Amino acid sequence: MTAVADRPTLGSPASALVCRNCGAQFPLGAQHACFECFGPLEIGYDADALARVTRADIEAGPHSLWRYAGLLPVGQNPATRVDSGTGMTPLIRADRLADELGFTAPVWVKDDSANPTHSFKDRVVSVAITAARELGFSRIACASTGNLGNSVAAHAARIGMPSIVFVPSDLEAPKIVQSAIYGGTLVGIEGSYDDVNRLCSELSETDEFESTGFVNVNVRPYYAEGSKTLGFEVAEQLGWRLPAQYVAPMASGSMLTKINKAFKELVAAGLVPSSQWSVFGAQSAGCAPIATAFASGADVVVPVKPTGIAKSLNIGNPADGPYALDAVRGSGGAMAAVGDEEIREGIRLLARTTGVFAETAGGVTVAVLKKLAASGELDTSRETVVFNTGDGLKTIDAVSGGARPTAVIPPTIKGMRAAGLL
Ligand SMILES: *Cc1c(COP(=O)(O)O)cnc(C)c1O
Ligand SMILES: [Zn+2]
Repeated sequence: MTAVADRPTLGSPASALVCRNCGAQFPLGAQHACFECFGPLEIGYDADALARVTRADIEAGPHSLWRYAGLLPVGQNPATRVDSGTGMTPLIRADRLADELGFTAPVWVKDDSANPTHSFKDRVVSVAITAARELGFSRIACASTGNLGNSVAAHAARIGMPSIVFVPSDLEAPKIVQSAIYGGTLVGIEGSYDDVNRLCSELSETDEFESTGFVNVNVRPYYAEGSKTLGFEVAEQLGWRLPAQYVAPMASGSMLTKINKAFKELVAAGLVPSSQWSVFGAQSAGCAPIATAFASGADVVVPVKPTGIAKSLNIGNPADGPYALDAVRGSGGAMAAVGDEEIREGIRLLARTTGVFAETAGGVTVAVLKKLAASGELDTSRETVVFNTGDGLKTIDAVSGGARPTAVIPPTIKGMRAAGLL
């Protein structure tokens, strides 16, 4: 526990921290584990406060995720928000992708590579760093597979808060450079993400880190709520209704779970008509602990040692694995895992049919979309949203081998002819 003052926010619809395991409730603050059973905590809301939020309020808000402040635990006061312009990313109707995969219903790509640091992580960090500031932390930190570190370092730089980012030292070069450029402290750890995360949990208990908010450790209940804005935006961009199916990548399993939570909250608040939707989860074969549990019908997620090119998803011991299983099973959805070659193919497929260049995590998601559509587990006659969570320029080495100029020629007509281009 930290000695930082617990201070509930003014006007927040959040009412308590609720144990996801035993249901015990605690006051809002910098706590992430249940005092009764050590289970993980999440934000509970006052249902009446959520029900008072109207579409018109949201539509009149800023063109960023803060338009949903009425549905978030923090940031109701614009003066305390950390607003990097995150959110309201394009929802692209991907007709050529749909055709190629045999869909008769629309397929949409929610392209979160358009966020300020080029991944979905700007959502969770916007909310977490706002919460950290409201809770009185003076430094921000994280354990990261790459994108989170990029986003934490950038947001900290924007508000002049010191940051310390911990990553496995063998990450893709662009992600290392991007975290370092914003000027915070970047620590490469000789080990896996799971080693990094364990170190951060230990550090968060030390006196020296007492006033440091680890966005995905002691501020995690707030951090996780940021993912809901993906669900809110999809609903608003579809004209205030929910899609019938969505496909999301899984690292810890948090994002997939929270999009589902967002859809439920929208229905409960009367912001969208009630409808049925199915949730689909994507992992890479090199790190598929959640998809493996799904396939075997298990409730327990057995940790693995991650390998493979989808490094941003390489969490071998996923904290939200059981909740992701519940969300998918409860909705009649499915999960699948795909190998590195399929991931590369997924990146190329999305790029050549839709004009979106995804990082490896997006390749995982598109490859799983393809696989589950082919197997019939995804219904190609139902409207489907696919989440692209990161930018291909961050993992360029994954596909650079197969992406070269068609020809290199002298600047002459003759050169064009010689290369067979004329
Ligand atoms: C972090 C991340 C995710 C999702 O992570 P969860 O831990 O499952 O919430 C998905 N895609 C990318 C590119 C990421 O960086
Ligand atoms: Zn509990």
